[in-house]
Amino acid sequence: MLIVMKVDATAEEVQDVEERVRTLGFRPNRIPGSERTAIGVTGNQGAIDPAEFEGLPGVKEAIRVTRPYKLVSREVKAADSIIDVGGKPIGGRRVAIIAGPCAIESEAQTRTIAAAVAEAGADFFRGGAFKPRTSPYSFQGLGLEGLKILAAVRKETGLPVITEAVDEESMAMVEEYADAAQIGARNMQNFSLLKRAGRARLPIFLKRGLSATLEELLMAAEYIVSEGNYRVFLCERGVRTFADHSRNTLDLAIIPSVKSVSHLPILVDPSHGTGRRDKVLPLSCAAVAAGADGIMVEVHHEPHRALSDGPQAILPGDFARLVKDVRAVAALFDRDRD
Ligand code: PEP
Ligand code: MN
Repeated sequence: MLIVMKVDATAEEVQDVEERVRTLGFRPNRIPGSERTAIGVTGNQGAIDPAEFEGLPGVKEAIRVTRPYKLVSREVKAADSIIDVGGKPIGGRRVAIIAGPCAIESEAQTRTIAAAVAEAGADFFRGGAFKPRTSPYSFQGLGLEGLKILAAVRKETGLPVITEAVDEESMAMVEEYADAAQIGARNMQNFSLLKRAGRARLPIFLKRGLSATLEELLMAAEYIVSEGNYRVFLCERGVRTFADHSRNTLDLAIIPSVKSVSHLPILVDPSHGTGRRDKVLPLSCAAVAAGADGIMVEVHHEPHRALSDGPQAILPGDFARLVKDVRAVAALFDRDRD
């Protein structure tokens, strides 16, 4: 149920409606809007009768939400969400470019790559300090030391930083040092982490699970938003299929699908989506042409020495070319400005 308040509804009327929702045993979720306030009602098992709210002062209408996800649906919020990450927008007109190594390996490695991607025109810097690896014997990341390197690099380059949190403990650390926290594919349905992300002080970059459907992805986002954190942006990063010409199969069809049912921004990660560096440029351009709000790509100056995901990392010079091509595609679709 979505309760839409009148444009001139007073703060007191909004509070009274929220109180009424609580009295009925449900939860009111105030939806930020530029013109009017809306209140999403969650916590109900079956349908609620709109008449419960429609007679209350200040209420314009009460609408049933038909999707299983509520607060992230376009039924509840028609306008695209624009998320502020370290003072820069994700979503809206400008296509965001996030770049950096898979993992923070050392201060020198991180500074070299950050300087190169900043110079080439990246908007945001990425790098994992906590790495979810398939093997327990693989490099697990530098942890807190990695976060400190990231924070130093942010100061040096001015680029906001995005890094992964793998559990509640690392989320608390990421909150201290980064501009947005990533939840990786393997944790997309880690519900306790999602709830913690919903109480986090920073925006959440939620990646699609290795075999998640569109509905499962949006329900995962709903977990975060229902705890009060509306600053969520999504990422398509490839799913498992029988194809063996690439590590995963990048599902660009999910972009218009997300756009039609949700107001959240969706980005594309062609690095994990393909696992091969020669596919990163063409699929970055394709993602933007298909309507993605941005791309995230892995860059390394010495991919053969990378401690994780070397085969998919592109060189800084290739990244500079990618930025030019992606911006040119964005311009074709009138998406090269804020
Ligand atoms: C990553 O972005 O470094 C990462 C581990 O991605 P994913 O969770 O999509 O595998
Ligand atoms: Mn990686």
